[in-house]
Amino acid sequence: EEHGIDLRRATNLKEILAGEDGRVRAVMTEDGEEIPCQIVGLTPGVHPNIDLVQNSGIETNHGVLVNEYLETNLPDVYAAGDCVEIKAAMEGERSRFEQLWYTGKMHGEVLAKTITGERTKYERGIWYNSAKFLDIEYQTYGFVSHQPRPGETSLYWEHPEGRHCARIVYKTDSHEVVGFSFFGIRYRHRVCERWLREKRTVEYVLENLGEGNFDPEFFKQYESEIVSKFNLQNPGANLKLKRRKGLFRRLFA
Ligand SMILES: Cc1cc2nc3c(=O)[nH]c(=O)nc-3n(C[C@H](O)[C@H](O)[C@H](O)COP(=O)(O)OP(=O)(O)OC[C@H]3O[C@@H](n4cnc5c(N)ncnc54)[C@H](O)[C@@H]3O)c2cc1C
Repeated sequence: EEHGIDLRRATNLKEILAGEDGRVRAVMTEDGEEIPCQIVGLTPGVHPNIDLVQNSGIETNHGVLVNEYLETNLPDVYAAGDCVEIKAAMEGERSRFEQLWYTGKMHGEVLAKTITGERTKYERGIWYNSAKFLDIEYQTYGFVSHQPRPGETSLYWEHPEGRHCARIVYKTDSHEVVGFSFFGIRYRHRVCERWLREKRTVEYVLENLGEGNFDPEFFKQYESEIVSKFNLQNPGANLKLKRRKGLFRRLFA
């Protein structure tokens, strides 16, 4: 809203109202509010443009159908990225789309191996997504549920001004980290993914948090505040940040 975007929460579009000239004049929400407007932008999701392969003999459905190796039904013809519809591997499962930049990148990496002679199966691995809402970065890694799941604890830190926050979800018994969400701080995909893959504990992650920070140089760093929040929530814990982000740290390490 501070960017001049007038939001309506917890309601939906009910109707687009036309003026006498047949053009849009307003929208109506489910709450009965009429908002005058000149244009309407709708974001109903992603629809692959597969016109190019229609009538080519390449099997399609909503997208270009491929198997787990990203192979189409024709030999030596592959597909990757937003246009791909990965066929269900097992009966009863549904085919799937992966319309994200990082999955597109992974498709490309897998296919590069395959076409250079090492036939490689595509495995998505640890869940990741990132986005930018105007000037605020957001990323999520692994599994961060909206409601805590049994056997999991989460550490939540938020800066008082409400523009930066972090959530680290870990197993209550072993302290193994299962997911992260960051809002307003940019973290390095490779580092967070490695921590999850290596099943690092929340203590290890917190002490090394600076390694994952991917904000531009000289941005304010919040890692020590996140560590302090953990110490506060866990009497007896006395974690200290071992790694800070920064060029000088790397140069003089
Ligand atoms: C508004 C928006 C926001 C997004 N935000 C995020 C996000 O926050 N995080 C995230 O992970 N992903 C996001 N995505 C999705 C991400 O951008 C896509 O998953 C990614 O770009 C897909 O890459 P691609 O190479 O498969 O397809 P594209 O990037 O669409 O590239 C396909 C290219 O093929 C070209 N092309 C099409 N037909 C032909 C033809 N007949 N001949 C030659 N060229 C052709 C097109 O012009 C285009 O350049 C967003 C997408 C949009 C639209």
